[in-house]
Amino acid sequence: MFGLIGHLTSLAHAQSVAKDLGYDEYAGQGLEFWCMAPPQIVDEITVTSITGQVIQGKYVESCFLPEMLAAKQFKAATRKIINAMVYAQKQGIDITALGGFSSIIFETFNLSQIRQVRNIHLEIEKFTTGNTHTAYILCRQVEQSCLKFGIDLAKATVAVCGATGDIGSAVCRWLDTRTDVKELVLVARNQERLYQLQSELGRGKVMAIEDALPIADVVVWVASMAKGMEIDISSLKRPCILIDGGYPKNMATSIQVPDVYVINGGIVEHSIDIEWKIMNIVSMSAPARQLFACFAESMLLEFEGWHTNFSWGRNQITIENMDKIGAVSIKHGFRPLIA
Ligand code: NDP
Repeated sequence: MFGLIGHLTSLAHAQSVAKDLGYDEYAGQGLEFWCMAPPQIVDEITVTSITGQVIQGKYVESCFLPEMLAAKQFKAATRKIINAMVYAQKQGIDITALGGFSSIIFETFNLSQIRQVRNIHLEIEKFTTGNTHTAYILCRQVEQSCLKFGIDLAKATVAVCGATGDIGSAVCRWLDTRTDVKELVLVARNQERLYQLQSELGRGKVMAIEDALPIADVVVWVASMAKGMEIDISSLKRPCILIDGGYPKNMATSIQVPDVYVINGGIVEHSIDIEWKIMNIVSMSAPARQLFACFAESMLLEFEGWHTNFSWGRNQITIENMDKIGAVSIKHGFRPLIA
């Protein structure tokens, strides 16, 4: 059985979802309440592969909210993730994806040191960040959207916002070795890590996002921002493709102007309807088929019987593992969303 540990994007989002799902006691509550709330299984899932194989899974809501980081409620944030992992393990789930901020909190607060929680020994090999599949899907979205919208990668500048992160660094490595992209622009806050990445790649211009947007033909957004940023639409190159893989979304600005193509980044579409309710609450246009690539990774590991932490630690994603997860993604009927 596979598991998905997820969270909602804001307190307001959590309150409205709680109301819709019939958890009235959660709906009117503020952040303090969510800090205390235990993890819950809110969905049972059945997925069918195009090979005919059928698997079962569970969705665990961790009750973490990004506002906990802004309010410096770090203890509550880390407790949410550890408790959700313990809960998943107690359910007998073989492989569970740590969605969105779950894996970021795990790494940032060094939670791998916590192996014993009350009477439970945390078996970290039963968890995956899902970031290898997410990075693979984002790279395919770059390639396929360039083809669709007539941008030639060999003449293009691709900016990666969040370049030094787990997903961003893998995207940079892939674009560097697997495509003929003309220029890579590396964006993040910590300059030392940016120059380390530049020296690892042997290329890439380090820039601030405001300087990158006017020259980028493609922007891959994979920064771990608790809240999306406003961007100046008039500064964008035309045409350009913006692939927002953040959760919550990195871009707060809604963009509907000619020659600017916005893609829902890190999202896959399955070939067969999935039996679940959970994707209705995160505004997917086809919730029975569209899902986060990290969640799909735990499904793929379950389909293949690879009950192992396929994606783990920071900045260790290899091109070989992106190929491996990409091959089984295609085999089971998932494809990158190009909206
Ligand atoms: P990491 O924490 O490993 O990396 C985050 C990156 O963002 C770092 O390079 C960091 O560098 C940079 N960053 C953070 N804040 C800012 C900022 N304000 N401006 C510019 N850069 C910034 O995160 P992951 O790679 O694990 O995840 C990245 C994003 O992808 C998250 O939003 C996550 O929720 C999302 N995600 C989506 C998935 C999907 O299935 N679609 C799956 C998993 C994750 P620095 O701190 O130096 O700025």
